[in-house]
Amino acid sequence: MWRLVGQDTARKTMERAVEHGVISHSYFFAGPKGVGKATAAVEFAAALNCREGAPPCLDCGSCRRILDGVHPDVLVVGDEGRLRSQDKSRDTEIKELGIDKTREMQHWAGLLPFEGRFRVFVIVECERLSEEAASSLLKVIEEPPPHVVFILTSRLEETVLPTIRSRCQRVPFTHVPASEIATLLEERFGLPVDESRKLARQSFGTPGWAVTAVQEPHVADVRERRLKDIEAMARGGLLERFRLVARMDREFKESRTEVYDSLDLMIEWWRELLLRRLDLPSEQKEGEEPPVFEDGSLRVDELTGFIHKIVETKSLLADNVNPQLALESLMTAMPRL
Ligand SMILES: [Zn+2]
Repeated sequence: MWRLVGQDTARKTMERAVEHGVISHSYFFAGPKGVGKATAAVEFAAALNCREGAPPCLDCGSCRRILDGVHPDVLVVGDEGRLRSQDKSRDTEIKELGIDKTREMQHWAGLLPFEGRFRVFVIVECERLSEEAASSLLKVIEEPPPHVVFILTSRLEETVLPTIRSRCQRVPFTHVPASEIATLLEERFGLPVDESRKLARQSFGTPGWAVTAVQEPHVADVRERRLKDIEAMARGGLLERFRLVARMDREFKESRTEVYDSLDLMIEWWRELLLRRLDLPSEQKEGEEPPVFEDGSLRVDELTGFIHKIVETKSLLADNVNPQLALESLMTAMPRL
């Protein structure tokens, strides 16, 4: 039984592979952050090595050891960011994966599996591989030993070497509907309906975030505060906006990731308004209340233009532009609700 939420296309691809025994040597799990790519990769590794009738059973010795990260034939690389994702000092998330990681994989790939059928290597957020590491990975996936399966995950697909991507079977991942995330929270954690729906809505289609928020309540508090700020900025005048910029500027000096996260959330929030404005399907819909009331007076090009502006601000900050200036310029460009 897969624990993966939503992702029917990905699930079917993995099920068919296991069922028919037609396994690619390399898979590329592509999609947004927090939608279950790494979870799916580990479960797929379990399914490939499970000894029970309906793989992955997630209960036999092999499956359990894989889930616990102690199976000798399954190596997960680059998951530190995810594990420590709520750590304030986590600039780990944007850390490069160096050549030592791919050398280690190269070494293990040459050996037969100890106890499983396949030796599986999972590389989480593979866009972080250094140039050197990526070319050494390319060598292994060009001529993979028969018992080896690589699963690469990425949320920035276009930044990964095309020569790597072209050797992999691409498996698409998407945002998950809020209703499915709410059900997950009710069933797995016994959360009351109103609480699970609120978290599902605030997760913007990412069960990974919702699960963390249940386990670490301060994560939900932080997001609630950020969402309030985002709305206050959208409704407020320049004075209110610049007041919030001053705070973000202070935050940026303490932890850049905090500010990147706020901007990511801002993208989701404005994207949601855009989808509703265009009457397009969104993971938030299905009878859920909108993240914010908007009377339909914003133009589509204003919304798309501003979303591009947030993305641009993120890359300016990464390029070490003066954060206060970059954020003030963003505020000036923000449409007013
Ligand atoms: Zn099993």
